[in-house]
Formats: sequence, C-alpha cells, structure tokens
Amino acid sequence: MRSLPSLLRRHRNAIVAAMAALVLAAASAGGAVPTKPTAPAEKVPGQAYFGLDRYVEYLAGDLPIVLTSPHGGRMRPDAIPNRKEGVKDMDVNTQELARAIIEELHARSGRRAHLIASHLHRSKLDPNREIKEAAQGQVLAERTWHEFHASIREALAAAVARHGFAFLIDLHGHAHPIARIELGYALEAKQLNQSDAAFDASGLMALSTLSDLHARVGGSAATLLRGPGSLGDLFSTRGIRAVPSPKDPQPGDHPFFAGGYIVRVHAGGDTPKVDGLQIETYRAGIRDTAENRARFARITVEALTVFLRERYGFELAAATRAK
Ligand SMILES: [Zn+2]
Repeated sequence: MRSLPSLLRRHRNAIVAAMAALVLAAASAGGAVPTKPTAPAEKVPGQAYFGLDRYVEYLAGDLPIVLTSPHGGRMRPDAIPNRKEGVKDMDVNTQELARAIIEELHARSGRRAHLIASHLHRSKLDPNREIKEAAQGQVLAERTWHEFHASIREALAAAVARHGFAFLIDLHGHAHPIARIELGYALEAKQLNQSDAAFDASGLMALSTLSDLHARVGGSAATLLRGPGSLGDLFSTRGIRAVPSPKDPQPGDHPFFAGGYIVRVHAGGDTPKVDGLQIETYRAGIRDTAENRARFARITVEALTVFLRERYGFELAAATRAK
C-alpha cells in the first residue's frame, strides 16, 4: 500500500509535468525558443517527455542506467535541410533495441532505465558529433542537439542523485565484416592492441569511460576492461561475441568503433560518478527481428546485472523482491 506522502509526491509530479507540457506547447505555438531554461522539474519514471517539435524524446527512469539512441531516428522534416557532410545513414532498429532493453530491465527489476532518443534521421542531425558537424549550421538541428544533450545531463544527474552513480550506454549499429559487438570505452584500437602490461602502465584508463570505476577499485585496468568479469566476458560467455573480451582482447587491424562524442563528453575521464560505454551491435541475430532484439535484451540485462552487482554493488533484481 502506498503511503500518503508517496501519493502526494505522485500527484505533484503529474501537476509539474502538466505545467511543463503547457509551457512547452505555448512556446511552440508562438514559435518562440526559450532563452532562459528553468530548472528541470522532477520527471516521472516511465513517462516520456518531448522537446519542441518532438524530435527528442526523454523517457524518464529511476535506475542508474541511462540509454541513448542517437542514430535510430526516422523523421525527415523539410524544415531541416539535409546535412551535407559526414555519415548520414541511420543505425537500423537501434531505437527499437534500446526499448527492448528497457522493457527487459523493467520486467526484471520493476524499475525503468532512462532513455534519450533522437527521432530525427541522421541525415538531419547526428547527435553523436560536436554541434558543428552534428547540425551543420541549421538552427532547428542545433536546438535539437542542445535538447538531446541537456536531456542526457538531466538523466545522469537524476541517476547520480538517486544512486550515487550513473551508467551510460550509447547504443549503435555497425556493418563491419566481423559479427561481434564492439565495446567503446573511448579507447582506440591501437591503444587496445597493446599487451595488458603495456596498457596498465600507459595510464590510458583514466581517460576511458570506466575511469571512475578503475579509480575506485584499482588493480589491472586491462583486466577490468577485457578480463574475467568484464562486460565483454559477460556478453561472450552468453553467446554474443564481443571485443574487447577475454576471447577477443584486441581489435587488431579490423574496423573498430572506439566510442564517440556522447560517451566521451558524458562518461569520459572528466565526469565524476558517471561511467559507461558505447555498444556497437551487428545486425543479423541482434537487431533484425523483434525476437532477436528481445534475446539480445535478455543477454544485455543478464550481463548488466552481474556487472553492476560485482563492480558497483548495485542489485538490479532487488527492486522486485522489495515490493
Ligand atoms: Zn551509430
């Protein structure tokens, strides 16, 4: 049974959300761009909040996990001219994959991960680039870029306030020849191609997206990254080949996505209490069908359950048992 304070809190959230929606609608109708953003209202877990023109969706959560989907959007509004340079292909079904992971997390824990999704097609905006390449001077695209990154900051801050840490997963799709997921910790292939001893001595882990974890637990950085109990290990032992992992410790000369703008800015070496990674998925078997997306979501949640328990002392399943 819910206590009176929790009921009041629920109503307060609903009222605040309704007021925020009205303010957004009024600003949208008038064509005005708010110049002075007010402090963000507390979001209701499981509820979606949209930016102006609904190009950015922020699905609020109450877990320390924040998912981002920058390349899964399909909207191509005429109001935003196509980008002239850079990669313009979308990562097919990655937004659907992110939602499958959120549903699986909810089924296991009774709680929600945060999701920030761009609904714009990558030909209009690439939120995983700095603003110049991302929006290429288009005002509406620039505004959407700011909404996207402000929502990430808000979600991470909410997670840190609630749990003391946040774990960011930026979800993508690759078309590289080898069917393995590529785990991007903001470490380039040539850095990962070093031996464990050389990598440990390099100090590179302090610049990676697991910098906070390593600073806290110490020990071999290479082991944390690709040894037993690493995320790569937890995926590969569940049937999803991954690099880096004990079986594929180094990308070698093969194409490899090291982690882009989003994870470097929001979870890099300079972001206290925020860790994470970029996950680049192959298509056939992971994101091509609803069934495969659900399977990958189960494996991802199993891997995260172990990783967050062992490395962060966070129990994903505890929420269900506590109810
Ligand atoms: Zn991508």
